[in-house]
Amino acid sequence: MELKHAFHQVQTNEINSCRNNPAALLRWIKKNLPVNKIVMGTGFGPPGIVLLDMLLRETRDISVFYIDTGFLFDQTYELRDKLQKKYGFEFLRFSTELTPENQAEIYGEKLWKKNPDSCCSIRKVIPLKNALKKYNFWITGIRKKQTKIRNQSDLIEFESRFEVIKINPLINWSHDEVWNYIKKYNLPYNPLHDNSYPSIGCKQCTSPVCPGGDDRSGRWKESDKTECGLHTSDSIGINGLNGN
Ligand code: SF4
Repeated sequence: MELKHAFHQVQTNEINSCRNNPAALLRWIKKNLPVNKIVMGTGFGPPGIVLLDMLLRETRDISVFYIDTGFLFDQTYELRDKLQKKYGFEFLRFSTELTPENQAEIYGEKLWKKNPDSCCSIRKVIPLKNALKKYNFWITGIRKKQTKIRNQSDLIEFESRFEVIKINPLINWSHDEVWNYIKKYNLPYNPLHDNSYPSIGCKQCTSPVCPGGDDRSGRWKESDKTECGLHTSDSIGINGLNGN
């Protein structure tokens, strides 16, 4: 019932008019949706930094979480701390209870090499499910141009795996638009981006990229995996739903 109501809340033409205006969309969200049922997630990538800045300019009443896999770069944790200090707030942290040592005991050493999908499921997807449990709306920083899977995403989608409405305000933004915003407002970002790491995840699964290489080509370099499972092509654009 609650979710059905949530569908109706986002099925409005006003949202479509914000298709290329993320700040206007966030303003609409704050005005029209129950803030205690909305959460934003970030992996501290450039689009996430932009979205965080835009969100906090609009409201302080929407929580923001990150997934701590236990394998993030030191620079990523430092960026988290910098952002908390800059904006004077705290991210919600979600993580598996399985320590890296427990994981090695149960599944063997280097699960990320043998079976990265299982590793991502344990350390990212299950914690994400927990993070979204209390909420009806999940704001993300994904962009169409990032991967083939993300290219199929829409501004507003239903994510059946987590039973939430997913809102992607930056979906139509380009790489340059993201970086121009970061430069314009002098926002902090991960210094690894200046050292050939355009996309950053866990230490074991992130490599530098040669000049001109695809932004995501440094992720899971030894496999054809491009997504950790947080975002899939299973989400359904909300315009295709009738809210029943
Ligand atoms: S990105 Fe790599 S180390 Fe991180 S959770 Fe996925 S497989 Fe494991």
